Amino acid sequence: MSAPVTQMKAPTRLEYLVHAGATTTTFLHSILKGQLVGRRCPVCHKVYIPPRGACPTCAVLCTDEVPVSNSGTVTTFSIVRIPFEGQRLTPPYACAHIVLDGADVPLLHIVGGCSVDEVRVGMRVEAVWLEIPQPTLATVTWFKPNGEPDRAVNDRGEVVP
Ligand SMILES: [Zn+2]
Repeated sequence: MSAPVTQMKAPTRLEYLVHAGATTTTFLHSILKGQLVGRRCPVCHKVYIPPRGACPTCAVLCTDEVPVSNSGTVTTFSIVRIPFEGQRLTPPYACAHIVLDGADVPLLHIVGGCSVDEVRVGMRVEAVWLEIPQPTLATVTWFKPNGEPDRAVNDRGEVVP
């Protein structure tokens, strides 16, 4: 009797097309102009970036556009050391939650322009833009250290003022 099969390889490929809604379309147009623009909830006043059409906490429309800074604070991060198909960067590199100045929720992006060993919670970073913008958040190549002193981050991942 042979051993039971417990696993197998099954390569799978999915292609899909995402239609940008009104909020994302506005966001992508702002990126084409070299600006990061979020939206503010009229009830809790949180600024979301990427912007949301509605606040997930208050369930009301977020209609106020709010430009946010190109600079922010790393609130958590992970070092990617394992290669995988379709990867844009060669490991190791750092994926991080970055709370941009003027925003209240973190943006998931890459920290580059430094050794992964230098990446830390509280690190101040700034966006590095492609010379020719595209309608995608990948127009921001990554966020690099901006030389400002670290900021304190509490255990909820919030930047302490
Ligand atoms: Zn809200």
